[in-house]
Amino acid sequence: MKEIYQELGISDQVFQYGKQIEERLKERFVQIDETAEYNQLKVIKALQAHKVSAECFMGSSGYGYNDLGRDTLEEVYATCFHGEAALVRPQITCGTHALALALMSNLRPGDELLSPVGKPYDTLEEVIGIRPSKGSLAEYGVSYRQVDLLPDGSFDYENIKKALNEKTKLVTIQRSKGYQTRPSFSVAQIGELIAYIKKIKPEVICMVDNCYGEFVERREPLEVGADMIVGSLIKNPGGGLAPIGGYIVGRQECVENAAYRLTSPGLGKEVGASLGVIQSFYQGLFLSPTVTAGALKGAIFAANIYECLGFSVIPDSIESRHDIIQAVELRSKEALIAFCQGIQAAAPVDSHVTPEPWAMPGYDDPVIMAAGAFVQGSSIELSADGPLREPYAVYFQGGLTWYHAKLGILMSLQKLVEAGLVKL
Ligand SMILES: *Cc1c(COP(=O)(O)O)cnc(C)c1O
Repeated sequence: MKEIYQELGISDQVFQYGKQIEERLKERFVQIDETAEYNQLKVIKALQAHKVSAECFMGSSGYGYNDLGRDTLEEVYATCFHGEAALVRPQITCGTHALALALMSNLRPGDELLSPVGKPYDTLEEVIGIRPSKGSLAEYGVSYRQVDLLPDGSFDYENIKKALNEKTKLVTIQRSKGYQTRPSFSVAQIGELIAYIKKIKPEVICMVDNCYGEFVERREPLEVGADMIVGSLIKNPGGGLAPIGGYIVGRQECVENAAYRLTSPGLGKEVGASLGVIQSFYQGLFLSPTVTAGALKGAIFAANIYECLGFSVIPDSIESRHDIIQAVELRSKEALIAFCQGIQAAAPVDSHVTPEPWAMPGYDDPVIMAAGAFVQGSSIELSADGPLREPYAVYFQGGLTWYHAKLGILMSLQKLVEAGLVKL
C-alpha cells in the first residue's frame, strides 16, 4: 500500500500520519456506513415501488410526451424524499436555477419571502434582488426579509415571529452553511424551526435549500414538515453520474407551480424530453448514498488531520455532520495555494495542470479553485476553492469514493509539507 501511495507522490511520513488519524476514525466511519446502508435501502425501495424497468432508460426527444422514464423517475424521487410530487429535469441547469424556479413559481407580486437563517447562498442574492439584478424577484414586486442567526448560530425565534406578517408567503431555509462559517442545520433542527413558523402562520410555504445535504442523514426535510426541497444533481443526489440537472420535491401544488414555470402555463410536466441522460439520473440516485458517505468520510478525515496540525476547521473533528462541506483555515496565501494544488494533483482528470489564483467576476479577492472532475463544476466530485483573503480558508467537498478523497487530502498535506508550511 505504502508503495503505490509513494508512486503517486505521497511520502512515507505523510502516509503514516494519515494512517494514525484514520485508525481513530473507525467508529465514526461505521456510523456513516450504517446511514449509507439505510439510505441505499430507501432508494432501492423507491425504485422497486415504481417498477423501474429497462424501458425507463430509453429517453425521449422533441416535446417529450409520455416519457415513461422521466415520469417514473419523478415518482421515485417523490417516494424517496417523502413528497407528493417531484420535478427532476435536465432542463433545470443547476442548483441556483432550481431554487430560482421554486421561488419564482410560488411567489406572486406583493408576496414576501423570508429567510429566518440569515443571508442565503451567494447566487441567491441576485435571484432575490438583494443585489440588484435583471429579472430578480424584487423586479417582480416580491419583497424580502431576513432574520439573522443569533451569535451562537441558533435561530432568533423572537425576531422570526416579528418578521412573519400578512405578506409572508414563503420561507426559505438553507440546510448547508454554504460558504459561511455558521453551522449547518440538522433535519431535526429544521423541523423545529418549521414547526415554530407554522404555529404562527400555518399556510406559509416552507422551502428547504437541500444542496449538499441529501443522504447525509436518514431523514430529509419533507419528513419534518417542509413543503418543498430543492437541490442540484451535480451534487449529492446525482451520485457523480448525472451530467446536469436539478430537482424540486414536495407538495403537489408547489411542484405543479414550478412545472408550469419551467416549461409553460398549460404544458407543465407533460413536456420536457429526457434526451439521453435519464439512465444516469437513475443510476446516480442509486449510487448517491454510498457516494455521499465517501465524501463525508473525506471531510471528517481532513478535519481530523488539519485540526491535529493546529488549524481551525469547520466543522471540527468531532462535530456531527449535516452536509459534506469542510472548511480549513490555512492562515496564509501560500498554504491555501499549496492545499488546492494538492487536491488537483490527486484528481482523476486534469491532474497535470496547476491551479493558480485568478480574479473571478463577482469576487473582490482573487480565488483559487481545484477541480479535476468528470462533470464540469461538479462538487460531489472532489473539489476545493477559497478566496485569497484572511483567514485563507479553503472550502472543500466531495470525492466519488472515500479512497479518492483520502488521496486528495494526503496530497494536500504532502504539498504543504514540501513547501515547508507544515511540520509533521
Ligand atoms: C451549490 C449551492 C447552491 C447553488 O447551486 P449551483 O448548482 O452552484 O447553482 C445553492 N445553495 C447551496 C446551499 C449550495 O450549496
